[in-house]
Amino acid sequence: MVPAQETGTSEPGASLVEIFASAQGEGPEVGRSTVFVRFGGCDLRCRWCDSPGTWRTVPGCRIETRAGSGDFEDRPNPMSVAEIAEICAGLAATRSTWISLTGGEPLLQPAVVAALATRLRQAGFRTYLETHGLHAEALESCVAQIDLVSMDWKLASEVRWAPGQAGCSDPETEFHDAHARFLRIASRESEVYVKVVLTPSTREAEFEAMLDRIAAISPTIPLVLQPVTPCGGVDARPEASRLLGWLGRAEARLSDVRLIPQTHPVYGVL
Ligand code: SF4
Repeated sequence: MVPAQETGTSEPGASLVEIFASAQGEGPEVGRSTVFVRFGGCDLRCRWCDSPGTWRTVPGCRIETRAGSGDFEDRPNPMSVAEIAEICAGLAATRSTWISLTGGEPLLQPAVVAALATRLRQAGFRTYLETHGLHAEALESCVAQIDLVSMDWKLASEVRWAPGQAGCSDPETEFHDAHARFLRIASRESEVYVKVVLTPSTREAEFEAMLDRIAAISPTIPLVLQPVTPCGGVDARPEASRLLGWLGRAEARLSDVRLIPQTHPVYGVL
């Protein structure tokens, strides 16, 4: 966990990479106006990660100076929660604009997530937490302030812990168990959907085990199947026949399943 850094107030300081305005490129809120607050630091290494610049904390955060301009200025970390909330309000087109807390992994800084989401809610904004969905205790400490949890379900055969993180001898069971714990809390305390990234090497048994776990918690939890955008160590999408097969199998177990690719690469925005 990234240690909370003090900023001279009672609120913890945040270690961020960037803040910018764009449109949501994934999941059921795709296409909606969104300000992204990208946290620094991640304890996973997904094969397809499109944000390796967030894996480690950095000394400074880049801030888009005007929504959609693509012009940025740098500010030093740690940033105060009040400063971040003010930047979000300045970049948001309207109060209906989502504020996405993303990464990296925001739940490595749960005190910042809680304090920032509280301030944003007081200012009339809705927050959207994008997380790898493995840190249930951290979620529990801040979920009451979050309006929508976007929880990835990582398939252990395609993901590993970052160097220095403790793993175990059975990562597949470890990941499924940790995700199930996380989803129970998220579905009890907030609105949540699950997203799984599917690649040509996705294993059928692992996919089925994920469906078992979600259905056992609630068959009405929305599930988004996201074909991988080739990136990093993955150079192809799954075949259409496999995607449609996964869709049918998921729909047989869950009542709200959608197949949605990432859209932001289509129109070339962040
Ligand atoms: S959890 Fe997200 S930021 Fe971390 S390695 Fe995976 S895709 Fe990248």
